[in-house]
Amino acid sequence: MALVNEHFLKLQNSYLFADIAKKVNSFKITHPKDKIIRLGIGDVTQPLPEAVRAAMHKAVDDMGSRETFRGYGPDQGYAFLIDAIIKNDYAARGITIDPSEVFISDGAKCDTGNIGDILRRDNNIGVTDPVYPVYIDSNVMAGRAGVYDGSKWSDVVYIPCTAENHFVPDLPSRRVDILYLCYPNNPTGTTLPKEELRKWVNYALENDVIIMYDAAYEAYIQDPEIPHSIYEIKGAKKVAIEFRSFSKTAGFTGVRCGYSIVPKELNGFTVDGKPISLNALWNRRFTTKFNGASYITQRGAEAVYSPEGKQQVKALIDYYMTNARIMREGLLQCGLDVYGGENAPYIWLKTPGNIPSWKFFEKLLYEVKIVGTPGVGFGPSGEGYLRLTAFGDRDETQEAVERLKNSL
Ligand code: PLP
Repeated sequence: MALVNEHFLKLQNSYLFADIAKKVNSFKITHPKDKIIRLGIGDVTQPLPEAVRAAMHKAVDDMGSRETFRGYGPDQGYAFLIDAIIKNDYAARGITIDPSEVFISDGAKCDTGNIGDILRRDNNIGVTDPVYPVYIDSNVMAGRAGVYDGSKWSDVVYIPCTAENHFVPDLPSRRVDILYLCYPNNPTGTTLPKEELRKWVNYALENDVIIMYDAAYEAYIQDPEIPHSIYEIKGAKKVAIEFRSFSKTAGFTGVRCGYSIVPKELNGFTVDGKPISLNALWNRRFTTKFNGASYITQRGAEAVYSPEGKQQVKALIDYYMTNARIMREGLLQCGLDVYGGENAPYIWLKTPGNIPSWKFFEKLLYEVKIVGTPGVGFGPSGEGYLRLTAFGDRDETQEAVERLKNSL
């Protein structure tokens, strides 16, 4: 008899976005003529940069000739992409990364979800709350989350990030072994100043904590004082894994490419206290269960770092950040409390009159025909908030803001 992993049975039945889709679809059936503007899901809308497409076309041609055809690629990714990443994303900020510390993947969701494979089941997990749901669900699957009480998992340490603490998390009150930090943050769109990030790195150094640092939105940082990488903080290579993605940077949500940095200095421990290189363990996990992002994809990602690619990516990010500004300004004019949207493509709204997130979601859908994401779907501290994304089309974003101004 094949027994299943019963931890999967503890997962919440319907995923946040499935619940939203259900409500939107019923509304569409009953109001077929109404134009709905979707500012809910965090997918991009603008096409791939020209430089990326040209590189991918050329890579397809490479595959068509005997001399330039590529089969299985190198274990951790092609040197051309790893070198471009090191040079542009790290050396340019004074950070030294060895090629063996870079793992090219098919995206940050897979990496943040899979990394738990190399860690024991009985580690204590800490997350900032509200949180990107993958960190929680992947730990539920591994049996690390405990029991769900309808709002929280018993074995997860939730670190609230709300307007009351200016979205700056306090150090946890309970012991954690693995801590997930995501900056710029999804869903709140807020960032962490350098001195706050330093506080976390020092805490991790003093308490043998591993930080899973998700920097999927670093390309949206506008303020030069805000760190793009956790390795800008001294000592971080001893305590942190960093996850990056080309999804939101360069429109790769459908192409699929990301990477992780697992420093050689970073150790986990056996139960009897023996240090073990996480880089070696992750290499073993990675090469056993994954065969690499395609050559065509990696050539496309490499082009993000070409002079034209950089310009086109900047234009893409400027486009979304202009949407964010339009939304922020419009919503502020409506008298709403608005957070994020200055160094991130997400706007985090306090619901007017503190009405529950789902009620406000329904009000926006039924009265203004705009789809947001209820904040409570990201964790208990998201109750009373709603997330809007700046990834929409410009005209639709403008129309959404006009509708909100007229209605709120
Ligand atoms: N990390 C965060 C915080 C995200 O919000 C997302 C996507 O929404 C991802 C990772 C997923 O990135 P990818 O498309 O590279 O899997």
